[in-house]
Amino acid sequence: MHKLMKIPKIAIIGAGAAGLMCAASLIEENTGAEIHLFEKNTILGSKVIISGGGRCNVTTGIRDKKELLSKYTRGSQFLKSAIGKFPPEKVYEWFEKQAVPLKTEKDQRVFPVSNDGKDIVRVFEKLFQKHEVKVHYKESVQKVMKAEDNQIDLRTDQDKYLFDYVVLTTGGNAYQHTGSTGDGYSFAKNFGHTVTPLGPSLNSFMTAEEWPKSISGLALPNAKLEAQADDGKTVKAEGPILFTHFGISGPALFALSSHLSFSKISNEHPIQISISARAEKSFQDWDKLIHEETQRRGAQQFQTFLKKHLQNRLVELILEQLDIEGIKKNSELSKIDRERVAHLLTGHLTLNAIKRRPGDEFVTAGGIVLDEINKKTMQSKLHSGLFFGGEIMNVDGVTGGFNLQASWATGRLAGKSIASMLNSASPTI
Ligand SMILES: Cc1cc2nc3c(=O)[nH]c(=O)nc-3n(C[C@H](O)[C@H](O)[C@H](O)COP(=O)(O)OP(=O)(O)OC[C@H]3O[C@@H](n4cnc5c(N)ncnc54)[C@H](O)[C@@H]3O)c2cc1C
Repeated sequence: MHKLMKIPKIAIIGAGAAGLMCAASLIEENTGAEIHLFEKNTILGSKVIISGGGRCNVTTGIRDKKELLSKYTRGSQFLKSAIGKFPPEKVYEWFEKQAVPLKTEKDQRVFPVSNDGKDIVRVFEKLFQKHEVKVHYKESVQKVMKAEDNQIDLRTDQDKYLFDYVVLTTGGNAYQHTGSTGDGYSFAKNFGHTVTPLGPSLNSFMTAEEWPKSISGLALPNAKLEAQADDGKTVKAEGPILFTHFGISGPALFALSSHLSFSKISNEHPIQISISARAEKSFQDWDKLIHEETQRRGAQQFQTFLKKHLQNRLVELILEQLDIEGIKKNSELSKIDRERVAHLLTGHLTLNAIKRRPGDEFVTAGGIVLDEINKKTMQSKLHSGLFFGGEIMNVDGVTGGFNLQASWATGRLAGKSIASMLNSASPTI
């Protein structure tokens, strides 16, 4: 008997990292389905292009799975399967196969050799031209609803459509000018999905103290930070920090902020951040070092010793804060002063964060509740045919390529899952 094959239709909403990789993986699987990619912007991957300061920190050089998953503040267990199937080394290989050479920097961040995020997006532009993905540029999806026969009704600002599969890759709501305005949350709610409270993550803090301004631009390459979240938990982060004209910033601060996304913060309710200038040195290490030096070189100025170990501007700040004269000779330094310096270098230097810097968070903490999504396929547990990928879900990591890694991996898993559903059952009409 002759049967006409029905061509399945797939909609991917949002051409960010997750949506782009989802479409690319569907192309690879050659399902014969119609692939429609809806993007409200005039270009693909607008956030990918500006990521990593325009260089696009595509993924990480970290290969150890446990260490890798520890970089996700929310959703690390959920991501295990997706990242297991498309880990950083495979992401690396994938882009190199698409003729974008990558490099791993000393801190394990991976970038295109060209240092140009546009090269990453160009990969997808070329793929979609060659393989006939229907990209609906400048078409904003307004509504996504259940339709008859388990199809999905999609309304845009220009037309209405019916799809067999829909992938929500609309991102979070950070950096809204890039198009990520949190539209997908309400789309998902139409299918009964729950959205957790949302908060900012990977942001800088403005501080009550004015002194960061006086050392604005000074970076500490490996500081240790500690603060207390609203739930009473002590949160910690290590790595580079930067003092700025408004307060404090930098990768370790961003990591700390991801644990404080839902903590109250204001003038009345500041969050105290304690800073150790060099994460690798404890109070005892500094105390011993200062003691030995003051014994060995009694006639030397104390500031000369400190400047051997710390940046000049930081030394000046420390001496000023402790009211110790830098020109004092080592031999003149009392035991108490020695300990005060060691304490200040190991957590007693504090800043009171009073505000998150408005609009500068890199990612959204929170999103679609993960229990409602099958982590092995990215399919909704509430509606078959509905899938998720990327930041729209309650997953986020610290800086270093982990957020894009999660988006590539979940977007790809969603695409592959749809392909395997299509390949196992070809609907007929
Ligand atoms: C400044 C900045 C720098 C960053 N740098 C890095 C980095 O170097 N490395 C890293 O790993 N992570 C980085 N991140 C985080 C990372 O970019 C994001 O986590 C990731 O891009 C999220 O991908 P996504 O596909 O889930 O969503 P998004 O990239 O947010 O894409 C969602 C897309 O959906 C479209 N869209 C939304 N609603 C609709 C609608 N209704 N109709 C049609 N289209 C719609 C949007 O226009 C957008 O293009 C950075 C983030 C920022 C803001």
